Amino acid sequence: MPDHAARYRGRFAPSPTGELHFGSLVAALASWLCARNRGGSWLLRVEDIDPPREVAGSARAILAALARLGLEADDSVVYQSQRATAYMGALERLRNAGHAFPCWCSRGDLDAARAVHHELHRDGHCLAPPRSDRPPAWRLRAPDLDIAFEDELQGPQRQNVRTTVGDFVLRRADGLWSYQLACVVDDAFQGITEVVRGCDLLDSTPRQILLQRLLGLPTPAYLHLPLAVDAMGRKLSKSNDAPAVDAHDPRAALVCALRFLGQPVPAASGVATLLRDAARRFDPTPLRGLATRASGDSA
Ligand code: GLU
Repeated sequence: MPDHAARYRGRFAPSPTGELHFGSLVAALASWLCARNRGGSWLLRVEDIDPPREVAGSARAILAALARLGLEADDSVVYQSQRATAYMGALERLRNAGHAFPCWCSRGDLDAARAVHHELHRDGHCLAPPRSDRPPAWRLRAPDLDIAFEDELQGPQRQNVRTTVGDFVLRRADGLWSYQLACVVDDAFQGITEVVRGCDLLDSTPRQILLQRLLGLPTPAYLHLPLAVDAMGRKLSKSNDAPAVDAHDPRAALVCALRFLGQPVPAASGVATLLRDAARRFDPTPLRGLATRASGDSA
């Protein structure tokens, strides 16, 4: 594992499922501003662990758009598709410590069970019989324990992972790694000291903190930004065809994102100076307690 100084290290971790849209730009810019405001580094990670959902060429397009916007990483980009050995090591540690168990339920079993409120996992065991014809999924044996943390914008949070989400998947039966496991392993690998991302991931954070504890990894600070929604209150996302950010007019795109983040817009016309001034003054307090914000809203 790389040797990281205790200095601030932030990150942006896009999934290559489409081009950079406004909601992702907000997360990228806010994480960059936090890092620069604290004199820290900013890293990039491409979360390409789900080939069926991947859109060919989008990782390259996202990185190119970020570069045009003046948001460049301080270290080489980590690609999760290259990190299977690290995820396997983490799963083995969890298995050896009795925190993970194999599960042979099919999606059909799970749907049928849900329809009749029938339990398929009890006391951290899968009730489906082991099968020799296909590999199992691996699930975390979720302890009955409240995970509490203080989010920098959303305030105190508390979740019992067992009663809220249950024994969640670490590795799917088809071999794909879960976002939760990969994210935790890589936040530690990249030495991340603060995670800045959208509020849609707030309820994943207790699962991630639980995994950090079970794996003996440090827990970063968390700051969950309001989610950009359209005038109808719908999340802007690649899946509902939110328009791509126009990186050919970087100043205009950055100004929209700064307004969304409740920041004053510096007078500077060049992107580098605009970003530097915005970083110096960056203060996310106008966003405190906001879970969503319309993308047209300004400070
Ligand atoms: N890859 C996730 C996404 O694009 C973000 C993960 C994270 O920031 O933890 O929504």
